[in-house]
Amino acid sequence: MSVIKNLQFKAEEFEYEVPFHITNSVATSSKVITVELLLDNGIVGLGQASRSFRVNGEVFEGLLKYRDEILDKINGLDVRNYRRVFDQIDKFSRTAPSLKAAVQFAVLDGLSQTINLPVYQLLGGRKDFIETDLTIGIDNLETTVIRAKEAFDKGFTTLKLKVGEDLNHDIDRVLAVAEATEGAGYIVDANLGYTAKEAIQFADQMYKNGVNIRIFEQPVDVYDFDGMRLVRNNCHYPVGADETCKTKYDALRLVREDCVDYINIKLMKSGISDALAIVEIAQTANKKLMIGCMGEGGIGMGQSVHFACGTGAFTYHDLDSCFLLKEPQKFRFKADGNKLYPTF
Ligand code: MN
Repeated sequence: MSVIKNLQFKAEEFEYEVPFHITNSVATSSKVITVELLLDNGIVGLGQASRSFRVNGEVFEGLLKYRDEILDKINGLDVRNYRRVFDQIDKFSRTAPSLKAAVQFAVLDGLSQTINLPVYQLLGGRKDFIETDLTIGIDNLETTVIRAKEAFDKGFTTLKLKVGEDLNHDIDRVLAVAEATEGAGYIVDANLGYTAKEAIQFADQMYKNGVNIRIFEQPVDVYDFDGMRLVRNNCHYPVGADETCKTKYDALRLVREDCVDYINIKLMKSGISDALAIVEIAQTANKKLMIGCMGEGGIGMGQSVHFACGTGAFTYHDLDSCFLLKEPQKFRFKADGNKLYPTF
């Protein structure tokens, strides 16, 4: 038997190596909830939630209060029937998506230990490892270039650059980075910061200067589908949705509106169930995928490594919070340079 008996939440906080600055947000630390799911066979399935007020509207203290309600819905279910458990946890998609991710992963982790098969193989086992980018937050020009060069020299060939607060400064910074890291590719992420016209202007300047931008991520506001389409149809680079795509319904709308080339899946926005659905929707509609993260520690990062390797669905991987936080623990994965391997 592998029946759910108990659920425990542990609150933890990890500091960033350097304050993490993106459009309209500077974070010095990340608060996470580590979830322990106890089965009647003695196995403990682990998962981790990294909440986001900015993206999900989640408040940390509020999430902690969901423990009893979640346990009440899944107590007594067998993780071998994990879709039945997922269905119950899907009820928290709107109010607590990061917790949904953590508990759904803990269910898979408990099952994985019960049947002695790693989660990434439960999910399909398509890849043995993935390569991640590294994110450079918003900073002055000199520091941006130093951090980018450092990352590139360490072997990160895709760099994710945060833009979106100041168009002209962004253009100067990204051009300086491109000059200092020749041969790299870039994901630029405006985190909703531009108007459609500003985004087009940014992309024009990049293209004129031959900057190798692999994805222009979330240039405009969450609900600005028309703006997103305008940018997509008026710039040379692939455009991606992040904040706009949380649930499978968001993905379906993005496909119908035909306004992006990429969707950025994060387990913290979608949980495992919607993330799996978005993979299918995107692949069926010939949209490409990247996978990202919030401020997960080692346990949360491992979840995404297993999901990414299992589904093998992603062209780019932005799974770098374990490199940005002062948190040494790595759980169920190991890192070698920019390569991340799932472990058991
Ligand atoms: Mn993003």
